[in-house]
Amino acid sequence: MSVKIPRGTQDILPGQSEKWQYIEKIAKDICRRYHYKEIRTPIFEHTELFKRSVGDTTDIVQKEMYTFEDRGERSLTLRPEGTAAVVRSFVENKMFGIPDQPVKLFYTGPMFRYERPQSGRYRQFVQFGVEAIGSEDPAIDAEVIALVMDIYKTAGLKKIKLVINSLGDAESRSAHREALINHFEPRIEEFCSDCQMRLKQNPLRILDCKKDREHELMASAPSILEYLNEVSKSYFAKVTAYLDLIGIGYTIDPKLVRGLDYYNHTAFEIMSEAEGFGAITTLCGGGRYNGLVQDLGGPESPGIGFAFSIERFIAAMEAEKIEWPVDNGLDCFVVALGDNAKDRSVSIVHELRTAGFSAERDYQDRKMKAQLKASDRQNARFTAILGEDELAENKITVKDMAQSTQDEVQLNDLVQYLKTKMEAK
Ligand code: AMP
Repeated sequence: MSVKIPRGTQDILPGQSEKWQYIEKIAKDICRRYHYKEIRTPIFEHTELFKRSVGDTTDIVQKEMYTFEDRGERSLTLRPEGTAAVVRSFVENKMFGIPDQPVKLFYTGPMFRYERPQSGRYRQFVQFGVEAIGSEDPAIDAEVIALVMDIYKTAGLKKIKLVINSLGDAESRSAHREALINHFEPRIEEFCSDCQMRLKQNPLRILDCKKDREHELMASAPSILEYLNEVSKSYFAKVTAYLDLIGIGYTIDPKLVRGLDYYNHTAFEIMSEAEGFGAITTLCGGGRYNGLVQDLGGPESPGIGFAFSIERFIAAMEAEKIEWPVDNGLDCFVVALGDNAKDRSVSIVHELRTAGFSAERDYQDRKMKAQLKASDRQNARFTAILGEDELAENKITVKDMAQSTQDEVQLNDLVQYLKTKMEAK
């Protein structure tokens, strides 16, 4: 019996991987413009890190982590998200001491969650995220939101919706928490067992429940916006004013809460509104986490960030039927006839590659016709044909596949000839 890929994971094959590279390239370029620098952290961390940051009561920590003991009997966990590790690294490397704050970072890489696999939900998925740590200027909230909207816009996505909310500061959250408990407690037995647990531990998360979404008490639940104190209200007003100033449209949804414990003030999500996108429409989630650096042993250092998965990004692109400007990349296929020409083609492709072209030849000892077909299949822009006669004269025949023209070129001039032809296009 052959061994199959684990459930909830996928192979990204050639033809698909170019789409990933394309999105990563856009995201990195936008990060460069906003002056965010890349950080790379380990794929696994001490389990304790996620318990303390993501939160003991969250689904991620309670049910979804890939946790294992290593040979030294340490409990390690494959990272389920990126923020915890970035903040750990911020503290560990004393980045709070850098004169220019906030420290603006981006990351990309696989994340792991033991979730029920379905369309748009994987057990291993790739997130791209940014974190700006060390400033509580509402302009940085607007900047982070603008950055991700810019990435989507540059990729061509149009049917997306930005939803924002404020979760307030500690005082506002605690007043809201009381109100939520009073609201749900009398009828909590009508809710799922998870919600019953959430009531005392973290009632805000009841609003995020997938099972009890339709319960009538959900729609009438007290809104956080009514419990924001003056500081939180004016912070939120400033963030939305900045978004207005730079022309970013948004909808305020007082029911938007994020599944992770560390958020306060600004929370946001971006959804796809494309037809046929599927049930899970959230493309990106983010928010502010002012206490997290302290929780992880650093000084007070407020942060904000977001993460999106490339999987859902690609799904949104496909739902909107956006064309992938994917370049096949094969400049020249060298067809060789006869043993001497075949030998010589080894150095010809090498020369072309050294000069910066992508070049290919036949490795199956095929006849001329089959080699020409291969060149066609691989969408070569030029097919260079080397027979024994040409070789004797140090020449090669170059066909321009798009123009259906051909020239005989001195072998020594091949690189220059292709350069001139390519530039002319
Ligand atoms: P979260 O860290 O749960 O707020 O997720 C942030 C973003 O990561 C989501 O908006 C999705 O784009 C993506 N994401 C989260 N979980 C998964 C998953 N299991 N599979 C694919 N993408 C995911």
